[in-house]
Amino acid sequence: MGGTFDPIHYGHLVAAEAVRSEYGIERVIFIPSGNPPHKVTKRVTNAERRYLMTELATVNNPYFYASRLETDRPGSTYTIDTVSEISRICDAGTELFFITGADAIFSILTWKDARLLLSMCAFIGVTRPGYNKSSLMEHIGNVNEQYEDRLKFLEVPALAISSTDIRRRAEFGKAIKYLLPEEVETYIKKHDLYRLDLKDFDKDNAIKYLSENLTEKRFLHTMNVAWEAVGIAERLGADKGKAYIAGLLHDCAKDVGQTPEAFKDIGVETYDGAFPQLSHGPLGAKIARELGVNDEDILNAITYHSTGRKEMSLLEKITFVADAVEPGRPEDAQREIRAALDQDINGAVVSALKRKFEYCARKGQSVHPLGREALSYYESLKN
Ligand code: NAP
Repeated sequence: MGGTFDPIHYGHLVAAEAVRSEYGIERVIFIPSGNPPHKVTKRVTNAERRYLMTELATVNNPYFYASRLETDRPGSTYTIDTVSEISRICDAGTELFFITGADAIFSILTWKDARLLLSMCAFIGVTRPGYNKSSLMEHIGNVNEQYEDRLKFLEVPALAISSTDIRRRAEFGKAIKYLLPEEVETYIKKHDLYRLDLKDFDKDNAIKYLSENLTEKRFLHTMNVAWEAVGIAERLGADKGKAYIAGLLHDCAKDVGQTPEAFKDIGVETYDGAFPQLSHGPLGAKIARELGVNDEDILNAITYHSTGRKEMSLLEKITFVADAVEPGRPEDAQREIRAALDQDINGAVVSALKRKFEYCARKGQSVHPLGREALSYYESLKN
């Protein structure tokens, strides 16, 4: 059974048991995904932690095993390599099934060595209640015509539980009890895996402000940047709560009138007539203050998120990079900046600045001096 398992929950365990009994399967090996090639643009908890949670969840069932196969494999992890390894260690003639979420079944023909993979094992897509089964069945029917009934599906009511929902609950301290094994819950709490400490910041009020003052598209971008910033902060050991607030509010002034008068009215003196499109940074910091943010680091992250500057704090860099790599940005830019981020955050800042400059060139806009200064500063750090 493959999946991200971020975290593993009762839905996965019930699904495994249901498939086991339906197909008379001897044992189920749970394989948390390593670095799936298609996940390069998504935030995922580190593989070791996901493996440990899977181990904790499965250890009490004699038919269940947790595997490190993908946890330990460097580089991109493809299911063909995993299934080949499993097939190698099984007795000759062992019949293999690959169980996973039904979404994956739709893309299966695009996976590496799909034809070979389908010859090595059958695939069972498990669906949650409410899943659009008719298009899934049509897809399965089409593939099965060519591949000898290698695709199957099973509806599992317990999959009403989802990892995304559990993460969202845990992030804001809501109960996750009874959604996943107690040992996994304890692990999540002990390692503060998903929790965000927002101190006394009133996020609901801020989100209400954003939903009333931003366009729908910008609101979505904003939420993406907030979560992206949390993911980067987590990887770098920075304060996830602050990263969330800075990401959430970075564009809070983007859709309000940005005239010199508007700036004067609220007492912001940094209106830059030559770069009106960049003035929402300082104006945003002013609005953030009104929304209850007093932390100077967060306010600076908002002020400079659009231009960047030399000697940014870690939080400023995280906000700057998160803005450039959120899932709504062009995929090639995301890949490039994320690859740099895998090395270090300063390289990611350089990459994001260069992308920004290219964008300015395409739009016929000049680059803000703070940005130019930032690029030469961070490039000099690389050398
Ligand atoms: P995912 O992002 O974890 O999950 C996508 C959706 O399917 C989510 O709704 C998820 O619910 C559900 N899901 C995933 N695994 C599940 C499971 N075992 N049981 C029940 N529901 C499950 O996973 P994914 O990216 O679709 O990948 C699934 C598997 O396919 C992984 O093993 C991955 O490595 C493999 N894969 C391989 C390739 C390739 O080789 N090229 C390409 C794509 C996928 P929850 O969030 O609640 O789990």
